[in-house]
Amino acid sequence: MKLFLVPTPIGNLDDITLRAIKVLQQADAILAEDTRTSGVLLRHLTISKPLHSYHIFNEHQTVQRLIDQLKSGKTLALVSDAGTPGISDPGFLLVRECIKHDIPVECLPGPTAFVPALVNSGLPNDRFTFEGFLPHKKGRQTRLAELAGEERTMVFYESPHRLLKTLQQFADLFGPDRPASVSRELTKMFEETRRGPLSELITYFGEKTVKGEIVVCVQGKEVSKGKNKRAYADEDDEE
Ligand code: SAM
Repeated sequence: MKLFLVPTPIGNLDDITLRAIKVLQQADAILAEDTRTSGVLLRHLTISKPLHSYHIFNEHQTVQRLIDQLKSGKTLALVSDAGTPGISDPGFLLVRECIKHDIPVECLPGPTAFVPALVNSGLPNDRFTFEGFLPHKKGRQTRLAELAGEERTMVFYESPHRLLKTLQQFADLFGPDRPASVSRELTKMFEETRRGPLSELITYFGEKTVKGEIVVCVQGKEVSKGKNKRAYADEDDEE
């Protein structure tokens, strides 16, 4: 009886871990956000297992059935289309229910888009806030207003067609000089990370058709000179 959350590659198939393969091979069944997408990966890994659909549109209906399966002794592995399940992907609800029912849960470490984007950004990463996708309409302004005073580096997931609008809103809110980065197509053939003040990123991405998957990092508000430029959490302690 156990639920495994199994991270899968965000582009480069070589990023699957040896343990992820082992867990997928040993699970009684695999729950997938999109059975076709995960089917491609599983065929690549020559893993043949019962594959069930688990996505945001059916998770509320299926969660009790899955709890019953787990309680009957089954080992289930949850995968999403890419990256770590539960990170801007389905997973949270099932994990919460498992915990409620004393069912062991294990999330394997592995691919996720925000970690390489944050580290590549060159922005302070000793403290950061993962914001995921901003609300598209309702609640967007409220969320942005909440972030106006944020001192930690902020990490956002964004779609290519909304990138420019979001960068412009960030420039209005944080000022055009605020350092930021845009990482596109991480681990893929056309991987690109562009770093600079928000105004420069707006000019650069405004001149082209933006494609692919995107993570935006924005440096936090500078409270006092140099304070959020420290590289290590304990640097201040020595002052
Ligand atoms: N579960 C995933 C994770 O662990 O990162 C995130 C899934 S979320 C539905 C998809 C978003 O993640 C994309 O819109 C993009 O913002 C980001 N993303 C996923 N793969 C990426 C990649 N290869 N390069 C840049 N961003 C990526």
